[in-house]
Amino acid sequence: MSELFDVTIIGGGPAGLYSTFYSGLRNMKTKLIESQAQLGGKVLLYPEKMIWDAGGQPPILAHKFAEQLINQAKTFHPTILTNTKVDFIEKDSNNVFVITTNDGSKHYSKSIIMANGGGIINPQKLEIEGAEKYEMTNLHYTVQSLKPFHNKRVLVSGGGNGAIDWAVELLDIAEEIIVAYRKDQLSAHEAQVVRLQESKKVTFLLNTTIERLIANKEKTKVKQVVLKKHDTDQTLLHGIDHIIVSHGYNRDASLEFANNSALKLKDNYYYEGTATGKTSQEGIFAAGDILSYEGKVNLLVGAFQDAVNAVNSAKTYIEPTADKIGMVSSHNEKFQEKNRQLIKQMLVQ
Ligand SMILES: Cc1cc2nc3c(=O)[nH]c(=O)nc-3n(C[C@H](O)[C@H](O)[C@H](O)COP(=O)(O)OP(=O)(O)OC[C@H]3O[C@@H](n4cnc5c(N)ncnc54)[C@H](O)[C@@H]3O)c2cc1C
Repeated sequence: MSELFDVTIIGGGPAGLYSTFYSGLRNMKTKLIESQAQLGGKVLLYPEKMIWDAGGQPPILAHKFAEQLINQAKTFHPTILTNTKVDFIEKDSNNVFVITTNDGSKHYSKSIIMANGGGIINPQKLEIEGAEKYEMTNLHYTVQSLKPFHNKRVLVSGGGNGAIDWAVELLDIAEEIIVAYRKDQLSAHEAQVVRLQESKKVTFLLNTTIERLIANKEKTKVKQVVLKKHDTDQTLLHGIDHIIVSHGYNRDASLEFANNSALKLKDNYYYEGTATGKTSQEGIFAAGDILSYEGKVNLLVGAFQDAVNAVNSAKTYIEPTADKIGMVSSHNEKFQEKNRQLIKQMLVQ
């Protein structure tokens, strides 16, 4: 049998990353499995947005926050696998969980923390042949930085909160903004729509979809878009520098449990559990957006609290005589050496 871990955490979003850190603090041999190439979970969907509501943390760009979470998760040198999707979970006759991943490998663990959020989330792509060629240049599904849009003509495709929020972010940056939406009314928060309507930079094209992308001579970038107005059957040609497509997300929540490990669901989707991270299955705990219980907080701070509870529950499940809660970090011996090094560094600066 390959290596046996105390806990395997499924999902490398905020809940999984903080569980990884905390299980290290509780001396557990830890593995984290994440299906995407990058750790960070949903926070990577809004990398250029400011986060204000994480306790004690000054306003911070989401991608920076994700970076900090990832560094913290690595504190106790866990095993981290990315680009690896968990497909199947079962329990063997020795009460060990066997986790099968999409590459066919098996992972063995005494306990599991499900931190798989809303599943694997990917933006819905433009259904136009060859569109993927421009994803490296000027066709964007997420905005990593606002800099490239400075004084540029930007087409935002979509009319929900995601699209309209991006258009508002660009108000002081772009030269011109076209919002194209397939429906006859925008479906975003009214206050944000009003901000766009008050600006002379913004043109709204409703009942409109992108029909074709026309590339530059080198075929590296989109130079013009052909838009179709469905109410009038009119075709419009627009020169643009960038396109932001915000058409929502596809979710892949496929992950199966053997009969002896199946979890009870709430609303056919969330794992029904308790505030201490327990699920209906002994030895499988949960944290973050995927877990449902009374008083649940679906925010980063809620994910962190869930992570601490799930780890403490997993610890006492595999070691019933262990302390129910971990020692606070300020007085925890585990940090003594690290604190000495940090203080030394501070004195040098
Ligand atoms: C646009 C937006 C803005 C937000 N802004 C804020 C904010 O300002 N403040 C705040 O507190 N909260 C905010 N939130 C909420 C916050 O991002 C979530 O509550 C948080 O990301 C939940 O973390 P999680 O780890 O539970 O789930 P997720 O972040 O969804 O992470 C789950 C991870 O599990 C992985 N995964 C799923 N299935 C598998 C599988 N089978 N195998 C392996 N890996 C798998 C996924 O790829 C993903 O990386 C925002 C959310 C959104 C969508």
